[in-house]
This record gives sequence, structure tokens and C-alpha cells, in this order.
Amino acid sequence: MDIKQIFKNNQNWVQTKLNVDSNYFNNLSKGQNPDILYIGCSDSRVTAEELMGVSPGEAFVHRNIANMVPNTDLSVMSVIDYAVLHLKVNHIVVCGHYYCGGVKAAMESQDLGILNPWLRNIRDVYRTHRKELIEINDEDKRYKRLVELNVQEQCINVIKTAEVQRAYRERGLIVHGWVFDIHSGRLIDLKIDFSKILENVMDIYRLE
Ligand SMILES: [Zn+2]
Repeated sequence: MDIKQIFKNNQNWVQTKLNVDSNYFNNLSKGQNPDILYIGCSDSRVTAEELMGVSPGEAFVHRNIANMVPNTDLSVMSVIDYAVLHLKVNHIVVCGHYYCGGVKAAMESQDLGILNPWLRNIRDVYRTHRKELIEINDEDKRYKRLVELNVQEQCINVIKTAEVQRAYRERGLIVHGWVFDIHSGRLIDLKIDFSKILENVMDIYRLE
């Protein structure tokens, strides 16, 4: 990777935008008003804006290894808080992807140092859904299913937060679970039953 090339690319990009709209960056500097919070994986093959076809200003984005939402992680919790309370997004997406290295690592028994506590959250997902997962003999299929179940569990982690529960009641905010299939390039909606999950979650995690 030629770092100098990146600056050339940037110059070209600026010019392309200005050719279409000479006020493009002036307008961009005035503020952001995204309607969607996207929580995805840091994987270099899974871009956020590009795969959704959205422009700068349209999506608030958080990415980490394996699109996790641990409720004790200050970074992701701050992003959710800011997106819901200040930007007032109406959609939160947790987007996982097949062939996720983080999920793969959590399926294997190896010591990965500082990554251990992070990946343990995925091992917890495996434990929670162990019965379903051990029934799947094909390792590739089991791996894919764990990716989907991890997305579902991270959606639940989003729904556990007080600000999301409040925004759901006040303005009908919705949480979506998606998987990006690297093999086909397609985005798959897992059609997570948001209201049912919310009902179960509220039973235990209701804060007011
Ligand atoms: Zn990944």
C-alpha cells in the first residue's frame, strides 16, 4: 500500500465531489443528521458506507472486532448513547459477516492474549446456543450460524440499554440484525423479531 497514493486518491475524490456540487464540503461542515447507527466488524473487507450505498453524513458508524456490543465497553456504549440521545437515529443496525476472523477465533481453543476477554463474549454466545450449535455437524455451517447468533445476541445487548428502550417507546426506534455475505456481496436481513426480543429483555432488564 502506497500511503502517498492515498493522498492522491483523496485529492481526486475532493475534485469529483466538487465537480458535481461546488458546495459539497461547505454543506458537509454544517453538521450531521444521520438516521442510522451502523455497528459492524473492523474486517477490511466489510466496509460500512460502501456496502450500504450511503454517503458521508448518512450513517453513524462504529466498528470493532466481530461487531460486539459488550455493555461494559465504554466505546460502543458511548456511540449508542450519542446516536440515540443526540443524533436521534431511528435505526440501529448490528451487521456481522460470514468468515469473520473474530468469530472463528472464538470457536478455537487458543490463547490470544488481550483478545481473550473480548472473544470470551463470543464464547458466551456459543454457550448460550450450544444445544443448537452442536447439532450442526458441518463446521462451515456451524461457523456461519454462530455469526448469525452473535449478531442476534449483540442486538439484544443494544436493546438492553435504557436509552434504546426509551427511544423505542417515544419514537419507535428499531434495532436490525444483518449479515454481510462476503462470498456473494449480499446483505442479509436476519429479520430479528425486535418486539419479541424487547418484550423478553424488558422482563429482566427493564430500568424504569
Ligand atoms: Zn469480522
